[in-house]
Amino acid sequence: MHGYMNRILRVDLSDRTFSEESLNQDLIHDYVGGGGFGVKLLYDDMKADVDPLGEENELIFMSGPLAGTGAQSFGRFKVFFKSPLTGGFFKSSGGGFFVPEMKYAGFDAIIVKGKADRPVYLWVHDGNYELRDAAYLWGLDCDDTHTLIREELHDPKVRLACIGPAGEKGVKYAGIFSDRRTAGRGGGGAVMGAKNLKAVAVRGRERVPLADPEAFKALVKEQVNRYRSDPGFEHFSKVGTQNPEFTNVLGLFPTQNFREGLLPDYEKIDSSAFNEIRVRKTRCHNCMIQCGSITKMNFGKYVGAWSEGPEYETIWAFTGPMLCNDIGLTVAADKLCDDLGLDTISAGVAIGFAYELYEKGILTKDDTDGLELTWGNEDPVLPLIRQIAFREGLGDILAEGTRKAAEQIGKGSDEYAMHVKGLELPAYDPRGGKAHGLNLMTANIGADHGSGYAGQEIFGVPYKGKPVDRFAIEEKGEMTKFNQETRALSNLGIMCSFAARYNPPEAFGKMLSVATGHKEFQDTDYLWLVAERVVNLERMFNVREGFGKKDDVFPDRFTKETMTKGTSAGQVFEADELLLDYYKARGWDQETGIPKKEKLKELGLGFTVD
Ligand code: SF4
Repeated sequence: MHGYMNRILRVDLSDRTFSEESLNQDLIHDYVGGGGFGVKLLYDDMKADVDPLGEENELIFMSGPLAGTGAQSFGRFKVFFKSPLTGGFFKSSGGGFFVPEMKYAGFDAIIVKGKADRPVYLWVHDGNYELRDAAYLWGLDCDDTHTLIREELHDPKVRLACIGPAGEKGVKYAGIFSDRRTAGRGGGGAVMGAKNLKAVAVRGRERVPLADPEAFKALVKEQVNRYRSDPGFEHFSKVGTQNPEFTNVLGLFPTQNFREGLLPDYEKIDSSAFNEIRVRKTRCHNCMIQCGSITKMNFGKYVGAWSEGPEYETIWAFTGPMLCNDIGLTVAADKLCDDLGLDTISAGVAIGFAYELYEKGILTKDDTDGLELTWGNEDPVLPLIRQIAFREGLGDILAEGTRKAAEQIGKGSDEYAMHVKGLELPAYDPRGGKAHGLNLMTANIGADHGSGYAGQEIFGVPYKGKPVDRFAIEEKGEMTKFNQETRALSNLGIMCSFAARYNPPEAFGKMLSVATGHKEFQDTDYLWLVAERVVNLERMFNVREGFGKKDDVFPDRFTKETMTKGTSAGQVFEADELLLDYYKARGWDQETGIPKKEKLKELGLGFTVD
């Protein structure tokens, strides 16, 4: 076996048992790896209606076949689970160094189920594994958890995936943290917390076996040359995603809980402003892009605050939703969320939601412990993050996510809850980019930009050799299918999405084939077929949970309120036409949004039909 370590570790925390299995050849052939393995294993292991915070839910820590090799930008990890935020299929991804180390410790995947009777952490090293006491770690933040586990194991090179207090308290959008890189979305941290699992620690010395090491080395050389010769490489390497000006120029930067798409004085948080506070660059395993940054405030009321980040989504999450524009707040809020273990996107949207309810009089000072949630007032943001993480006061309600919080608050507040399938929307207003919006509305995990990013609309990437009108609705169903499958294809290797432009399917397929020895992976038509299979199997996981067309739906704000500011002024989201166009492109039933039987059988998913 090459590329893969050929070992999956299964852990049942309830009875403290372990088992191992090797990779099945059919699984490798039909699902390739990474995102393919994750959905197939979760679909097969779980049945419908499992409580996301119960013992039967699984957490699958998954690597890709190129992780831990010399290939660039394949070191990210993905965690698969049923989400406590959406109630459906979820995959959450983070960067760092965890997954290569998991492979060096001997495993392609670690699957955890059950619930420990007291806090534990899982220690996996050189093919061995054990559960260790984590009672003394319970309540600690993510940073201290990393430090103390490394001290206990006498090894500063141990890699971790851990939770902070938010995960322990069951915040529905608590994330999983690894050296300040985060699998943030969907509540994987709450699933870990419900299992009394504080961390998974990994360390090993095995090397990933390659089918043809010399040929692979030559392909990595070509890959490095592709990176270096790309005209955008140097700029992206310097700035990373700290450039919120690009969506402001497009009128897509959501403000005031997604009313408009332009932040006043956005120059205060643009790339030049971040250049002034960047201290040094950071990176994930084997990635020459080094898109990460350590930033430290050297002026203003947050002087001394630092974080690894914030990235674009986080910069937005603590400015646009509440109409603030203090760069220092974005740094301080990013660090606080990383320490306490919160997804920044859902936290920022939940806070923006509270601001709008305050404006409407649905929430008052009595509900906010005296905090004045008025647009542009940044003072309540850090206290609210703490309240959410520790489930105190209003934070206890916001910790449920905007969908459930609106159910609890009532009084028409659901109108202001900005989510799809329960997952809070990210930093793009769907009205100003119709394929981008269509992806947010239909992505299997909810409003996730990463599931089918429309580079054609945001960065002007040509589609079928032509430029794209971002406001047009024609062809957007087909384009969204293409974008979602492009992402699903690269996820077969858990390739970093920022590196996809340097790793087109042909080059990726060659690397996969030379690493694993599977000739069929060189055939890009075959990889596209697997990608479509993966998207449809994710969909069928959700269908089994009762999802359908009723869940591919936006808040009315996008379909009924016309934007009035910036370059997207005049736009609404034409949901009905766009959705039907998408279902048609996918071969899904127009009435129910469920894949048709013929389509499932054509994709080798006949086993889902019953
Ligand atoms: S581009 Fe950035 S996020 Fe992606 S692997 Fe490289 S350093 Fe990590």
